[in-house]
Amino acid sequence: MATLERNSLIAAVIFDLDGVITNTVYFHYLSWQRLADEEGIPFDRQIHDGGMLGLNREDALCYLLGDRQVSSCQQQLLLARKNDYYLELINELNNEHLLPGIGSLLTELHAANIKIALGSSSKNAELVLQLLGIEHFFDFIADGYSVPNLKPAPDVFLHAAESLGISPSHCLIVEDAPAGVAAGLAAQMWVLGVGPYERLAQAHLILPSLAGVSWTDILAKIDYSRNLHKQPVSTESI
Ligand code: CA
Repeated sequence: MATLERNSLIAAVIFDLDGVITNTVYFHYLSWQRLADEEGIPFDRQIHDGGMLGLNREDALCYLLGDRQVSSCQQQLLLARKNDYYLELINELNNEHLLPGIGSLLTELHAANIKIALGSSSKNAELVLQLLGIEHFFDFIADGYSVPNLKPAPDVFLHAAESLGISPSHCLIVEDAPAGVAAGLAAQMWVLGVGPYERLAQAHLILPSLAGVSWTDILAKIDYSRNLHKQPVSTESI
């Protein structure tokens, strides 16, 4: 019975895309770098990783532009150019670009009848999942087109949970960026941070990567966290 109770705690896992399932972060960086170089804007990997990780494309462009004033029309043209550069690069994506551990975790979740969703700010999310050959695992895809307010707002995760018919407190978010962790916590969901502790300290559970991590390991960590009274703030009992 204890196993059943524990397994019923999480009914859905909602994954972020960039930095969790695959590393399109590097392709994003290359696309921004090309745009910045063409526009004569000083830019490097450090600036990208320090301020733009986890931001949606509009906010990332604002960060890149800094004090430079551009009209909303110019802004759209710059975003379109950046996206064209990105699409050129990601056409080379394939199954080998899955981050370590994600393939086996998806297979395990599917076998355990846990619902699987994507909760990403990306507007190319479906294409990326197709190129990676894992689209069939996903019961629902919430992406940059799904809701007006992107992370750190909780909307994209709440939309995914509602579409799956699962209450937020039974959802686990897998995220690699502070904005995504904040979104998951605001949605009153369990949050697993994947990456360095200092970046993800607010998450309920933190792992350096998903390599070699099984669903059973994650459930055990959630159980442990519950015993420490770390859990999503909700009026609903779980
Ligand atoms: Ca991410």
